[in-house]
Amino acid sequence: MERLNGMKRTKGLLRLRIGIVVLALLSGYFIVDAMLPQTEAKVREAKSEQVQSQANLKPPKKDKLVALTFDDGPDAKYTVKILDILKKYNAKATFFVVGYQAEKYPGVLSRIVKEGHMLGNHTWSHKDLTKLNGQQINNEIVKLNKVIQNATGEAPKYVRTPYGAVSKKVTEAIEQNGQHNVLWNVDTRDWAGATPEDMLKNVKANLKPGGIILMHSFGGKKGDLSNTIKLLPKMIEELQEEGYSFVTVDELKSKSS
Ligand SMILES: [Zn+2]
Repeated sequence: MERLNGMKRTKGLLRLRIGIVVLALLSGYFIVDAMLPQTEAKVREAKSEQVQSQANLKPPKKDKLVALTFDDGPDAKYTVKILDILKKYNAKATFFVVGYQAEKYPGVLSRIVKEGHMLGNHTWSHKDLTKLNGQQINNEIVKLNKVIQNATGEAPKYVRTPYGAVSKKVTEAIEQNGQHNVLWNVDTRDWAGATPEDMLKNVKANLKPGGIILMHSFGGKKGDLSNTIKLLPKMIEELQEEGYSFVTVDELKSKSS
């Protein structure tokens, strides 16, 4: 009897233990289940903090740089209007001038430099340099370097070859003078008489930080660059709203590399 009672007690205890374990497991399941959404929320919160801190690591707005470049000037009509607009918006630009124009307007050359812009060498007579021999290429560049140096006290650091035409010989001639050739990534096609609306659309579709925009300050279709003058304030305003700063080619190169 004693043994039987003992066995019953043992069975009873066993059932009780199983019951407790099942209860504990069930309540544990519910507790864990109830906690899950909170944990997920915490994970989400941590993730969003991470995203935010990554956003804080993005370069500040001033590093979203663009270089406006104006070719073929200077002149007394469009170049001065461009300089007035740039001054109004505190935007800096680079003017790739040609020799026969630079010789006529030394005052505009020195104004360009005085107002914080940069001068580049667009050759003496705007010829396709790939069709010239080494000596001729050198003359096209050196003659203009001297005119710029006389007007401003400094020889230009950069060359832009007319029509963007380049060959190994042309590059070698430029680099022998300690200069570098700089082309562009966005062509406004102001030289072809594009409308201000089309030019703005083109720039906004193709410009990336570190971009170089091609425009003109002399020449254009039938000598008319009035669309460039109409486009410029609107383009500067819209790009400044997007966080762009307008800098010279030199500043762009030193900060983008
Ligand atoms: Zn040109």
